[in-house]
Amino acid sequence: MQYLADIFANIRIRDIVDILIVALVIYKLFTLIKETRAEQLIKGIGVLLVLTKVSEWLQLYTINWILSNAMTVGTLAILIVFQPELRRGLEYIGRSRFFSKSLIEIRGENMSRVVDEIVEATASLSRQKIGALMVLERQTGLNEVVETGTKIGGTVSSDLLINIFIPNTPLHDGAVIIKDDIIKAAACFLPLTDSSTVSKELGTRHRAALGISERSDSLSIVVSEETGAISIAENGTISRYLDAKTLRQILIDMYKPKGSNQTFIMRWRRKDEEEE
Ligand code: ATP
Ligand code: MG
Repeated sequence: MQYLADIFANIRIRDIVDILIVALVIYKLFTLIKETRAEQLIKGIGVLLVLTKVSEWLQLYTINWILSNAMTVGTLAILIVFQPELRRGLEYIGRSRFFSKSLIEIRGENMSRVVDEIVEATASLSRQKIGALMVLERQTGLNEVVETGTKIGGTVSSDLLINIFIPNTPLHDGAVIIKDDIIKAAACFLPLTDSSTVSKELGTRHRAALGISERSDSLSIVVSEETGAISIAENGTISRYLDAKTLRQILIDMYKPKGSNQTFIMRWRRKDEEEE
């Protein structure tokens, strides 16, 4: 009793703040993890921890030895198995407003011009059934992908975009990377998605668009060579058969400064659920 009284006598405001912050972080982590595959894992770790303690009390030394060693190996296994989640989580922290002043630098007139040029090019490529793949870079840097292609560094224009994708020209094969109002590179090689839920009719161009959307916050526009259909891939999902008007609206929304971080967390979680 005296012991407890001592603790309470010594509590400072700073300790309360400390505890509140830790509680908040743990709560946030739980809401992120809830209903994802990490939830079972956390439960599993909890059970292991309890069993380790119990075996210690009961002085079951062999079981205790095995369990404590399993925990050590388990920690390493978690890092490996949950590498994608950890990576996305860290990227999310780096992307949040705290570290970046503005999410998209181009604004106003320049932005709507870029959107118009991209939409015009996409519509024209679609009419002519010329296959195309454009990746719009956002916060996640795509320089690894840019390295695989041919650097361009030109201002976005519909003529340039159409020209790049004309069949049997050196740059038509692969993806164009666009950052703000600059075409950074063409003929870039994107990672393919390994999701098994993708429709069989979608070939490598669409799988490449999905692949990069899983690994970054980019938005990819695909024009099918077979059907002329326009699709976009974002956050690991593909939306097909868009018309120019819808595409334009999506791009305008995309170039607008993003809302609160909450929306990002929700999207982050939604993606996790889809992966299962
Ligand atoms: P489409 O509807 O246009 O036929 P698709 O999804 O069926 O598209 P494919 O027919 O396999 O795909 O399209 C092949 C083209 O996709 C290639 O010529 C190349 O330009 C592009 N492509 C394929 N893989 C990649 C990749 N990993 N990165 C970038 N571009 C790629
Ligand atoms: Mg095809």
